[in-house]
Amino acid sequence: MMLEVKNINKVFDGFSAIKNISFSLQAGEIHAIIGPNGSGKTTLFNLISGLIALDAGTVHFEGLDLAKIKPHQIVGLGMSRSFQSANIFPKKTVFENMQIALIAKNQAHLNFFKKSDGIYFTQAMELLQAVKLDNEANALSGRLAHGMQKQLELAIALASDPKLLLLDEPTAGMSLAETQLSIQLITNIVKDRSLTLLFTEHDMNVVFAIADHISVLHHGEVIVSGPPELIRQNQTVRRIYLGHDKV
Ligand code: ADP
Ligand code: MG
Repeated sequence: MMLEVKNINKVFDGFSAIKNISFSLQAGEIHAIIGPNGSGKTTLFNLISGLIALDAGTVHFEGLDLAKIKPHQIVGLGMSRSFQSANIFPKKTVFENMQIALIAKNQAHLNFFKKSDGIYFTQAMELLQAVKLDNEANALSGRLAHGMQKQLELAIALASDPKLLLLDEPTAGMSLAETQLSIQLITNIVKDRSLTLLFTEHDMNVVFAIADHISVLHHGEVIVSGPPELIRQNQTVRRIYLGHDKV
């Protein structure tokens, strides 16, 4: 198993945000977590990526118990995530953002007295090409359209050369055109690089188009989990989460 989540719990000030959740991901799987706002999707990602501590349960990544690993080491093991709102350095160029990500991955020590403008040029441009941002390399990233900022964030997540990618609402705030482009990019990248993908998404068209497996969260619990056909047919999901019979 690439990822194994077992009986995890999280309580915030007496409020149970995540209740006894278990699921696993095989290598190459595309698994979507869906559920209304406040159902616990981001908290689940924060727990898996070690950003916040578990109150109970375990998360194993390729057989390693993540509780025994420091959060900043998890990326080095091959798990990389993006955030619901873009997480970039807005005053740096697109290219500089990639350099920073690559420097972090390689734990390179820069010699500040030496000119290092070209460091990781090839790798940075290759990643920017993968997310179709190579033409924006010299643009200030804070000036990019929202969709492009999310593409940059994806390239930054890829800079650590992950096996497992966690994407929290990768199309949040995007126009329809941006969403379509972004999903195309993500699916191509996942295929080309043989990645395993865990993502949350509010757009049901996206979820049903790309997921192999879907888990539905409600008030911090997984109420149903299975292949898209099973979720599509589930009456509870239809009634409560997906707005009638649209799915
Ligand atoms: P989603 O991503 O599905 O919209 P979240 O995981 O962000 O949901 O939130 C789940 C619930 O946990 C919400 O009720 C939210 O208010 C609460 N929550 C999330 N993070 C914290 C926190 N750090 N402290 C207290 N409550 C939190
Ligand atoms: Mg969220």
